[in-house]
Amino acid sequence: MAHSHLTIEETAVRSILVPQGDPPVSEYTLNPYSGCGMGCAYCYVMKFHHARQHPLSWGSWVQPKTNAPFLLGKVRDKIWGRRIFVGSATDPYQYIERQYRITRRCLRVLLESNPSSVVVHTRSQLILDDLDLLQAFGDRLRVGFSVPTDDDRVRRKLEPHAPRIEVRLKTMRTLRQAGIKVTASLAPLLYCRPERFAQLLSEAADGVYTGSMNYLDQTALRHMERAKAYFRSQPYKRLQAEMDRCLQAVGLLEKTTEEDG
Ligand code: SF4
Repeated sequence: MAHSHLTIEETAVRSILVPQGDPPVSEYTLNPYSGCGMGCAYCYVMKFHHARQHPLSWGSWVQPKTNAPFLLGKVRDKIWGRRIFVGSATDPYQYIERQYRITRRCLRVLLESNPSSVVVHTRSQLILDDLDLLQAFGDRLRVGFSVPTDDDRVRRKLEPHAPRIEVRLKTMRTLRQAGIKVTASLAPLLYCRPERFAQLLSEAADGVYTGSMNYLDQTALRHMERAKAYFRSQPYKRLQAEMDRCLQAVGLLEKTTEEDG
């Protein structure tokens, strides 16, 4: 997860909590960074206005919101008793978190501000740097861990700067062993070997969310003809059905919905 490909642009923002209109998961989202160094080819965030306006391509720039912890401290009353989702439009534990520690400092403010629940969504093993802090939330905190395939060749193609699948599964197991509830996010599901994948997830997650591949013409996938054709094909639909069946067989499928960042 090197970040030599990244242009880093520190920024000060005017607000940090974004209210959600009709919130299935959270009442506010919190993104410690704008942009994202993981560069997933299917990332829906690249179709948002701020990403389209940026002169560099998605995945090659990131803006640490350096005043985020300070701003969060000023809106503690909004946090009290609320459900907060961290990482809806960036990965809060992308590599430069080691340099900036904005996510860690935001979590400290959240912890002091008594939210009713916190979901932290990531693909990164760097989340283990904050294990003590995550544990301090008790059962109010859940980690959503994105792991859309068991095949690292697929990961290299579609999530070039994200951690290896094996590392993610190991991180998920470590979180669970430390008493943190982990939901695996397979949204979108990528090509995988369903039976093997479900078995691996049964050791690494308490539950699973699944979802389809969307926005094929609005993400970097629009330049990847073969991938695009696959996600529109019958074999992909059959793969989804087979994955659902295998997840149910290991008792993991709670429901299917979209949840990613
Ligand atoms: S899907 Fe998530 S981790 Fe991947 S580039 Fe988008 S925000 Fe970053």
